[in-house]
Amino acid sequence: MKLRVATVWLGGCAGCHMSFLDLDEFLIELAGKIDLVYSPVVDVKEFPENVDVCLIEGAVCNEDNLEILHKIRARTKMLVSFGDCAVTGNVPAIRNQLGLENSENVLQRAYIENAQNNPSVPKADGIVPQLLKNVVPVHEAVYVEYFLPGCPPPADRIKALMVQVLSGATPKLEGSQLKFG
Ligand code: SF4
Repeated sequence: MKLRVATVWLGGCAGCHMSFLDLDEFLIELAGKIDLVYSPVVDVKEFPENVDVCLIEGAVCNEDNLEILHKIRARTKMLVSFGDCAVTGNVPAIRNQLGLENSENVLQRAYIENAQNNPSVPKADGIVPQLLKNVVPVHEAVYVEYFLPGCPPPADRIKALMVQVLSGATPKLEGSQLKFG
């Protein structure tokens, strides 16, 4: 039976997913061994049940990120923090320096100070999710089995993870959780 694999994009730049695509011909091998059941690169709207492995790109920045992350955790056997934003907070967590009370400044900067036309923060429901007071790495929101560092993780490191996962081998542990590379 094929492994049910998902990839998710939270607060990240898509660079980690671009690195996944850099697997090149290994993607063809993967295609024969996994079902990609949810990902930014497939058209599935709802995160499915019974997922074996989910790679999570990006930090946890807003209420939408948090909500889907809890759903993913409940429906997935193995979570992988995929890239430095997921592992440490990295670039999106820079806004934490603004202080707890000033996270809304990010919206001011994006939608008002940098706007060339119609400067205003969109207010309609479902357009701009509520920001969390602090950006946090994935493992501060839910339990994570494995960490795959790098900005982005190089394709060889992603391949090393997928080869081990596909083989069903017990991963090498470093501390309490696995680190590749
Ligand atoms: S870890 Fe680097 S490449 Fe990946 S989402 Fe963050 S900034 Fe982008």
